[in-house]
Amino acid sequence: MAQAKEGGCMCGAVRYRVEGDPLAVVNCYCTDCQHISGGAFVTALLLPRPAVTVTQGKATGFTGTAESGDQVTRSFCRDCGAPLFSELSANPDLMVVKLGSLDDPKPYSPSMSIWTSSALGWAHIDPNLPQFPKNPPLG
Ligand SMILES: [Zn+2]
Ligand SMILES: [Zn+2]
Repeated sequence: MAQAKEGGCMCGAVRYRVEGDPLAVVNCYCTDCQHISGGAFVTALLLPRPAVTVTQGKATGFTGTAESGDQVTRSFCRDCGAPLFSELSANPDLMVVKLGSLDDPKPYSPSMSIWTSSALGWAHIDPNLPQFPKNPPLG
């Protein structure tokens, strides 16, 4: 049983706590993750929604239609812009936490690569991890 982990945005206005182990840790190569990260992919923890508690401040959400066609709300700190969470309309029991927002992300490493069909040509996709061209089967 993993200890509770804490994380937050860059400026410290928004803080959260995560209980337990993630269901998966994904490298997501979708075009939305490219956009929101300003890079080639996002690494994120998939957690049961009750595992994540915001303990300070409030993340600002932006809801848009993701590459999957589903509504996705991506939350960030309004003050510093750091991306924190995503919530998926298609999977409301799930909370997605951006790995780099954890105080100590080192214990986690990716368990799968998703949306590889949208990856940039030069992106290195770990050949040792399961790959899914679009969303992975969950549950
Ligand atoms: Zn902030
Ligand atoms: Zn993505």
